Amino acid sequence: MNDRFAAGVATVGCLLLVAVAMRNRGVGGDDGDRTEAVRAALRGGTARNVILFIGDGMGDSEITAARNYAVGPGGRLALDTLPLTGAYTTYSVDERNPELPDFVTDSAASGTAWATGHKTSNGRISTSPGDDRDLPTILELAQRRGYRTGNVTTAELTDATPAVLAAHVANRSCQGPADMERCPQDRKSAGGPGSIAEQLIDHGVDVLMGGGYARFDQTTDAGPIALQQAIAAGYRIVTAASGLEYAQPGRRLLGLFAPGNMTIEWRGDEALPYPSNVRTPQVCKEDQRPVNEPSLAEMTAKAIALLATTGDGPGFFLQVEGASIDKQDHAANPCGQIGETIAFDRAVRIGLDFATDHRDTLIIVTADHGHTSQIVGTPTDADHPTGLISTLRTRSGAPMTLSYGTNRFHRAQDHTGTQVRIAAQGPQAANVVGVIDQTDVFRILDRALATPRRRSDQ
Ligand SMILES: [Zn+2]
Repeated sequence: MNDRFAAGVATVGCLLLVAVAMRNRGVGGDDGDRTEAVRAALRGGTARNVILFIGDGMGDSEITAARNYAVGPGGRLALDTLPLTGAYTTYSVDERNPELPDFVTDSAASGTAWATGHKTSNGRISTSPGDDRDLPTILELAQRRGYRTGNVTTAELTDATPAVLAAHVANRSCQGPADMERCPQDRKSAGGPGSIAEQLIDHGVDVLMGGGYARFDQTTDAGPIALQQAIAAGYRIVTAASGLEYAQPGRRLLGLFAPGNMTIEWRGDEALPYPSNVRTPQVCKEDQRPVNEPSLAEMTAKAIALLATTGDGPGFFLQVEGASIDKQDHAANPCGQIGETIAFDRAVRIGLDFATDHRDTLIIVTADHGHTSQIVGTPTDADHPTGLISTLRTRSGAPMTLSYGTNRFHRAQDHTGTQVRIAAQGPQAANVVGVIDQTDVFRILDRALATPRRRSDQ
């Protein structure tokens, strides 16, 4: 079973074949008994490589909507094929009373939870609620243990999810040296560690790729812009997809492919109050990303190529974020949201393909929090959601209506407090099964990265 799984993921672009195979399961010779497959997937010990995929705002509803649209409800995405799955709770805590839960987290507090193993209040980047202590991150621990590290996103590199791994500031808004209004104590001129951009560079993360060029183009307290600081620290700066081919292992890479967030993959009309487009469903416009920006899958493949080692000793820790699932959900834009989920799934497939040949790799695929979109029945004059809706003509031709109801028209939609899926394969993957908490991910990663295996153990 495991071999068949591995062979399946090794076939690039086989989404539809996987879909057909999965639909036929239970109809043909496969009786659906997965006992042996699950048993074979249980592996303790340590991992030579770890890839953590975070779909920002990718709750069960967002996954289901993308699956329905792209491969149909009986199909399976790459992220559906990991052998071990559980759920985790994502709540944050109150800034003044950390004993008190805040049921709806943001990406900063949730990221701090999985990156450090500690709950914090919304807005904080790997610092504790109230007393503002720096919390050690899994990337810092991995570096200390000799692992190479990478941090990839479709958002600004200084956005919350990539930031939590290699920065400690009181507020997520302190992204560049000119953005320090809410973190005066963190300024370098005040004896602090500096903005998120400066800290990403000072941490010496081997591979950094995403958007946010403008944050690194700001003047630091010491005088030069942050980009000059990066060059002095040995980084190769790349600002277009075509430049990636020149990036070679052995030199740090800072890829900044957009001034702000990177361009989304698909476009379409935003959701509107009923009747919206219920009678004329929209078809998403795919392939809208400009060629000078790499896809998340391309960045993931390049990051792995730069980080993977061939000799003995530790491998790498890589975080890959599909950031704009969340941002398009905020915008009540179903095509944008689904396109980003599919792009994220393609990046997951790159990771799974790598793991096929490198079984000592722990892969975790999860989200940081739930979000707004809900799949609802066909709205009618007599019966329809009060929020915003949009109906899509899925690739199968069947209509699917998404509803966005966590805020008013013309206002950004909000996160929700639901538990979200976590799936894994490789060493330590068994620990995602059941209902765990987001902070447990730190402990899973910590154990997986505890004692690097020798090459001969593979
Ligand atoms: Zn968000």
